[in-house]
Amino acid sequence: MSTNKNPSGHHAEGNVQPRFEQAIDPYRNDKKLSEPTVCKDCGAVYHQGRWQWGDAPKNAHQETCPSCRRIQDNFPAGYVTLNGSFLEAHLDEIQKLIQHHAERERAEHPLKRIMAINHQNGTIEITTTDMHLAKGLGEAIHHAYQGELKTEHTPGENLVRVSWHR
Ligand SMILES: [Zn+2]
Repeated sequence: MSTNKNPSGHHAEGNVQPRFEQAIDPYRNDKKLSEPTVCKDCGAVYHQGRWQWGDAPKNAHQETCPSCRRIQDNFPAGYVTLNGSFLEAHLDEIQKLIQHHAERERAEHPLKRIMAINHQNGTIEITTTDMHLAKGLGEAIHHAYQGELKTEHTPGENLVRVSWHR
């Protein structure tokens, strides 16, 4: 008995990212924005169903994009916490890696941004506007430096907490 409830296929080839459970994200609930819409804060353009970088046509509608709204509300979607003596000893390179990773992601995905980086008492805390960015940062650091990586995500919540220790 083969039940084929999902003929469109959920597994895109080569997509190894585990998907976060689809939750109702108040910031992504774009209430069917008119296209094109330009974010009046960062200039990202909503076009073909997603936010991207590009030139907005003169007649574009104006809205604030989900990431700029999260930044204004100071309401992160991801927290990345790093600590340990290895971190302290390699602070500069690790910070560069973080910045490099974040810039690359942001260049492609306007909604994936670092909100803040705080370094206090031997701990770095990074907040992000996007869960996947937080997860990706943890994975990039773990890939480069091993150590201990933990990712906590409660299904149904729009929040991920990533911690890395070495
Ligand atoms: Zn924006």
